[in-house]
Amino acid sequence: MGNRFKSIRCACCDKPGWHVGRGLIESCYARHRSAKTLDQFPRTLRPTGSGWSPHGPHGKRMLARYIELDQLGFSPRRIAFEMGVGPRQIARYKATLKEMTRG
Ligand SMILES: [Zn+2]
Repeated sequence: MGNRFKSIRCACCDKPGWHVGRGLIESCYARHRSAKTLDQFPRTLRPTGSGWSPHGPHGKRMLARYIELDQLGFSPRRIAFEMGVGPRQIARYKATLKEMTRG
């Protein structure tokens, strides 16, 4: 099977579609690329324990921000809004945090 793309839910709008890059479907990827906001979305990640781990200063900063908001008791939806990321990315942060605090 040589399928390059896989079907995902977009990290930005949560709509189903073909993955193009950074967890985004084609329309969002193109939009963020032309708006120069692709950096909001982490590069596509190879599987580690949780399927994702922060790399680079931006990813670590975003994760730290997630942890901060989570500890303030914000709902995942609110955190996604505050951070300007999609619910899928929040799920990744959550899984990563769980991995990190597992022991
Ligand atoms: Zn989208």
